Amino acid sequence: MPFQKTANAEVADIISLRNWEQMHGGRSFKSKTASVGRVAANQTKYLLSHCTIMASVAVEDEPFDYLIKPESAAFVNQNDDAWSLAVLQMSYRSFVGAFNFVEHFQNSRASKGHILDAVLRKIRIAEDVLIGYVDILVATDLVHTELVENIRSGKTKYMSMGCLTDLVICSYCGARCTESHTYCQHLLYNKGDFLFDDSGVPRRIAELCGHPSLPNGGVKFVEASWVGTPAFPGASKRSIVLDEWLGPASPYTHVASQPTGIKKAASIESACSPAMLAHLNSRLKQQVSRK
Ligand SMILES: [Zn+2]
Repeated sequence: MPFQKTANAEVADIISLRNWEQMHGGRSFKSKTASVGRVAANQTKYLLSHCTIMASVAVEDEPFDYLIKPESAAFVNQNDDAWSLAVLQMSYRSFVGAFNFVEHFQNSRASKGHILDAVLRKIRIAEDVLIGYVDILVATDLVHTELVENIRSGKTKYMSMGCLTDLVICSYCGARCTESHTYCQHLLYNKGDFLFDDSGVPRRIAELCGHPSLPNGGVKFVEASWVGTPAFPGASKRSIVLDEWLGPASPYTHVASQPTGIKKAASIESACSPAMLAHLNSRLKQQVSRK
């Protein structure tokens, strides 16, 4: 039974993994729209936002790949969850096609849109300490006018991921836990603390999600929510990529009221790197060409 991880809020309505797969199979956002021949009746207007959703930590080499390098300890999130760069490399693409919710209300009827794309940016924060940031492209259905207005104004600016993980590993003793009742003493009593390892190095106690030995790292990202308070302080909207993008509808979005195909010019802030922009543009062209 996988662990359900969200960054900060109670999950009001949990959809089983099986149901999720049925809904999500083959990346619902793309495959279903690609098979629909009609154009005008199946478009939705979205606000596209580029958000940094999470970061990895750096871990030591095997067999001590459960020990978090102290320089990256700040990238454990506020729920004491962490992901190694290797796991994130194997799993971050599962954001693509995932739902966009508000406050982790994981019910497809409450969907506000979809995640169109995800990229991993690697950053060296110290010698031999490489971490990764995951940026996502979020398409929020314009029919949710209050939410969209709050995103545009900056009143709503934080995001938080939701994922399923097959196991968690104690970042101090390496215990592998697949059920919460099998937690080691560190995960029960010391999360958030630093404890010295046998070499005298301070180690942050956290739940490392997944492991590179598992398919897709054992982690599946299922949604990204707009939230009031993020678990990872860096998870915020970086820029609005397209103010009004006419994109393919999904069963969980709303038909655009005026499917005219008019797209506003991109208002792109400097927060978007040139490489990210080039990537987003090519993805958008692919999406549009599928219609
Ligand atoms: Zn432990």
